Amino acid sequence: MAGSADLADYVVAPKAELLAQLVSAQSPAAVLVAATAEGKEIAGRLAIKTDSGVITDAVGLGEGFVADQSIFGGGVNVHAKVRKGTPIVAVRPNSTAPVTSAGAGTEEEVPVTLSDAAKAARVVERVKQEKGARPELTEAAIVVSGGRGVGSAENFSVIEGLADALGAAVGASRAATDAGWYPHQFQVGQTGKTVSPQLYIAAGISGAIQHRAGMQTAKTIVAINKDPEAPIFELADYGVVGDLHQVVPQLTDEVAKRK
Ligand SMILES: Cc1cc2nc3c(=O)[nH]c(=O)nc-3n(C[C@H](O)[C@H](O)[C@H](O)COP(=O)(O)OP(=O)(O)OC[C@H]3O[C@@H](n4cnc5c(N)ncnc54)[C@H](O)[C@@H]3O)c2cc1C
Repeated sequence: MAGSADLADYVVAPKAELLAQLVSAQSPAAVLVAATAEGKEIAGRLAIKTDSGVITDAVGLGEGFVADQSIFGGGVNVHAKVRKGTPIVAVRPNSTAPVTSAGAGTEEEVPVTLSDAAKAARVVERVKQEKGARPELTEAAIVVSGGRGVGSAENFSVIEGLADALGAAVGASRAATDAGWYPHQFQVGQTGKTVSPQLYIAAGISGAIQHRAGMQTAKTIVAINKDPEAPIFELADYGVVGDLHQVVPQLTDEVAKRK
C-alpha cells in the first residue's frame, strides 16, 4: 500500500514511477492494473520503464499469465502472453468474478520517493461530476441497456428502474443516444464504451456488430426483444421474446420481491 499525497496531486507519472521502483525491488511475477483510461496509461509507462511487455483490456488471465483479449471490435478472441520482462496486464474491471482464496496476499506499506520528472504535471483543480448513485458504466458488475425498442426518453425510466433494482449501471445503444433519449456518455459499442460485466441485459437492442463490439465479453448476456429473429439472440445466454414494456417492469418487480 502506498499512501502519499504526491500520488493523488500529480497525474499518472508518479504511479508509474512507484510501480517501476517496486518491480525492480520485488521482482513480482506480474503486475496487474485495472484497464481504465488511467490504468492503461500507467501500464504503458510502466512497460517502457521496466523494458517489459504489456497487455491491455484483458478479460481473463490463466495459467502462466496467458491473457484473454477480445480484439478488432470484439470480432476475434485471442490468448496473449508477455514474452519480455515482467508481464504487465491491464484487466477490464469486473471481467472476472471475485473469489476468496486461501493464499491471499498481505498488505505492506511502501515508502514513496519520487523524482522531479514524475511531478512535472500537477492536478490543479478537481471538479466533481454530478452523478447519481449508479455505478460507473465501465466498472459495473451489472449493466442494463436500452435500445431503439425503448421508444422514447421518458421510457428509459423502465430501464433505469430495473438497473436500480439490480444495483446496475444503465447503458444505451447508439440508436437510443442518437435519438437523444439517453446521454451519449452511456453509449455501449464500437464508438461508445466497452463493458465486460458479469451480467448484461439488452432490452430493445437488435445486436448490431457495432453494439456487440462493446458488450460481447460480458459473462452472461440476457436479451429482451419482441423479434425472435433479432441477432442479439445469437449472442445471448438467455433470451426473452416479448415487449420490453411488459417484460422489464415484471422483472423489476421480481427482483424487488427478492430483496
Ligand atoms: C461506424 C459505426 C459505429 C457505430 N457504433 C455503435 C456503437 O458504438 N453502439 C451501438 O449501439 N451502435 C453503433 N452503431 C449503430 C449500429 O449499427 C446500429 O444501428 C445500432 O446499434 C442499432 O441500435 P438498436 O439495436 O437500439 O436499434 P435497432 O437496430 O433499430 O433495433 C431495435 C430492436 O428493438 C426491438 N424492439 C422494438 N420495440 C420493442 C419492444 N417494445 N420490446 C422489445 N423489443 C423491441 C426490435 O425488434 C429491434 O430488434 C454504429 C454504426 C456505425 C456505422
